[in-house]
Amino acid sequence: MAKFRINVVAERCKSCQYCIKFCPKNVLEVGKKVNAKGYEYIVPVRTEDCVGCGTCGRICPDGAIEIYKED
Ligand code: SF4
Ligand code: SF4
Repeated sequence: MAKFRINVVAERCKSCQYCIKFCPKNVLEVGKKVNAKGYEYIVPVRTEDCVGCGTCGRICPDGAIEIYKED
């Protein structure tokens, strides 16, 4: 099965959590660390469940998530 790498650009994240709400596989969580703007940015925690749908990246208003397919 294909695996996907989820790259969260921490400095772009505003912790709105849209990506968490719309991810069908509950892959993402709010992390405990804050970025330079003081937002607790998102971290991928259940990456093995990611189906690569790209919804998180499309829904993010700040373009903070990129999904890459890994062989
Ligand atoms: S690509 Fe789809 S399954 Fe993977 S983290 Fe984003 S919304 Fe969730
Ligand atoms: S949708 Fe984008 S800005 Fe909002 S919490 Fe997710 S990664 Fe951060």
